[in-house]
Amino acid sequence: MHISLSGLENNQKQQVEFKETLLVPQEYGLVDCSPVTNFEGIIRKSEDDFLLEGRLQSDIMMSCGKCLQDVDITVSGTVFEKFSTELNADEDAWHIQELSNVDIAPQILLNLQLLIPMNVLCTDDCKGICRYCGKNLNEISCNCDELNREIDPRLEKLKELF
Ligand SMILES: [Zn+2]
Ligand SMILES: [Zn+2]
Repeated sequence: MHISLSGLENNQKQQVEFKETLLVPQEYGLVDCSPVTNFEGIIRKSEDDFLLEGRLQSDIMMSCGKCLQDVDITVSGTVFEKFSTELNADEDAWHIQELSNVDIAPQILLNLQLLIPMNVLCTDDCKGICRYCGKNLNEISCNCDELNREIDPRLEKLKELF
């Protein structure tokens, strides 16, 4: 996502508006290897800095934390970033070298990364996977728990012998 801020610098423009779709790199650890994020925003000049303000939205696919099934979720949020051509501008400002060719994709993706939840569930009451047979308990029920409960008392008895 390369944009030119030259028009802002020489006051030809009040703000630069843009609307882009970015491909999310695979290393973001999502199940779907090519989700996109839509970003809509403006950049305006404020004294020595350039302020980016916008909104991102992305449909991503993750794995349920309990049963590992694919879960589609939509993440969205507002993005505020500051850019500066000054090398020693304040710490929250990203340094830009060439006003005619500014790439804001890294900042958008960083914001997206922060919005991605650590853990998702397919449903609030997901039953998860059986720890004995590995079946998805949302789809099928097994009697492993029962069987193991029956074995347990006997194992306890055996333990008492030693
Ligand atoms: Zn689940
Ligand atoms: Zn089972």
